[in-house]
Amino acid sequence: SKVYVPRDSAARSVGADEVAAALAAAGHEVIRNGSRGLLFLEPLVEVETKDGRIAYGPVTVEDVASLPIATAGAHKLRLGNIEDHPYLKNQERLTFARCGITDPVSVSDYVAHGGFEGLKKALGLGRAAIVAEVTESGLRGRGGAGFPTGIKWKTVHDAAADQKYICCNADEGDSGTFADRMVMEGDPLMLIEGMTIAGIAVGATRGYVYIRSEYPDAIATMKEAIAAAVAAKWLGANIQGTDKTFHLEVRRGAGAYICGEETAMLESIEGKRGTVRPKPPIPALEGLFGKPTVINNVLSFAAVPFILAKGGAAYKNYGMGRSRGTLPFQLAGNIRQGGLVEKAFGVTLRELVEGFGGGTFTGKLIRAIQVGGPLGAYVPAAQLDMPMDYETFAAAQAMVGHGGIVVFDESVDMAQQARFAMEFCAIESCGKCTPCRIGSTRGVEVIDKIIAGDDRDANLDLLADLCQTMTDGSLCAMGGLTPMPVLSAIKHFPEDFDKPAKIAA
Ligand code: SF4
Repeated sequence: SKVYVPRDSAARSVGADEVAAALAAAGHEVIRNGSRGLLFLEPLVEVETKDGRIAYGPVTVEDVASLPIATAGAHKLRLGNIEDHPYLKNQERLTFARCGITDPVSVSDYVAHGGFEGLKKALGLGRAAIVAEVTESGLRGRGGAGFPTGIKWKTVHDAAADQKYICCNADEGDSGTFADRMVMEGDPLMLIEGMTIAGIAVGATRGYVYIRSEYPDAIATMKEAIAAAVAAKWLGANIQGTDKTFHLEVRRGAGAYICGEETAMLESIEGKRGTVRPKPPIPALEGLFGKPTVINNVLSFAAVPFILAKGGAAYKNYGMGRSRGTLPFQLAGNIRQGGLVEKAFGVTLRELVEGFGGGTFTGKLIRAIQVGGPLGAYVPAAQLDMPMDYETFAAAQAMVGHGGIVVFDESVDMAQQARFAMEFCAIESCGKCTPCRIGSTRGVEVIDKIIAGDDRDANLDLLADLCQTMTDGSLCAMGGLTPMPVLSAIKHFPEDFDKPAKIAA
């Protein structure tokens, strides 16, 4: 019988390659699928049976000999039918519906599981009608900013130019996030399909996927998937025999966090050093090589095939308020069951962290949760019942961002976390503007004084003032949002900043 072992790098990091090799050596037909996102169970081995896929995990090489592959029977690692596992069953998987089920680079497998239905639909629609469908869905940029995707596409659609571009931001530098990587390694054809639909909608014939160099597996898998899509005529010239053309290339980043900022990414794709461009002009009008450009995150493009295939209204049906559809949340940090959980907006932090995540890995109480990456606020445990919704989080001086959720237990020192946030900005600042370049370095020094108990009240005032300057005067979100984790730590955990003053020797 067929056996599935993920080729996802999270699974590989805990021995999936060795497990796959041992299963193959034992004579089993091994298929390397994407990960289901139940990372705490990787390497997850699935055996195909007439009753669905029976899973075992986490499997080590030593376990392989004892696995009852032929019968899919009892074993201490047996998890039953994987689709019935509560971690999967309680999700609302629109974007990740296929991830972990298919061979990521097989076009026929992709098509057999509903792939390219959205592109087929798009090929039969007018350009404006595609944009209208995306607008109707209520999709907002999944990279973190939450800007309505339909409006962005319409701006590029309406712009007159001899050349337009589609750029996918796959820099995913935020700590605790891995959903983009999982798409690229587990269902890359979906991203290709989404970008191709965008190209057809706005009249762009060229696209780039900008992937961070820390993701060698994602880069390799994307390239493999692009070649497969071109060979099957779903990408390239005259897609499926129509007059539509879309060429797609992978561009590799070089390790700078700031290249996840959209204009710095454009500079980097153009072969320059990644520094932020002032806006205006907006990239939708003057983007890559000065041409109108759609820039979206991996998850935004990945949501598009569903929207076209099932209709914008079907997508909009999920969610709350102005946050429509689903978000693939990423559970990380000090958590028992880390992994990917796709849910409609409106799910609470508690449901994610305690329900799916099972609480902290250490078993201690949850103290803080950083939501939305290193520039996101530290949310206290008292706010665990907050629903995941762009506006609710903004009202609480926090952000949903890219859906990264990093859990800290009661042993965390929040003054050190505030320092870490400021230091991160000092290290990753592109240096273009003063509030960020100088402010972050001065910020670390001031926090050090506060931690040392040196003139505490005056230095807290100074830090508040500095944060205001960074918020108001920074050119981009790096310097502009760094105060968010810093100030949230002070606001919610003041006791951690109230150390006794050093006594002079
Ligand atoms: Fe560069 Fe920081 Fe200014 Fe952004 S805020 S442009 S990263 S110096």
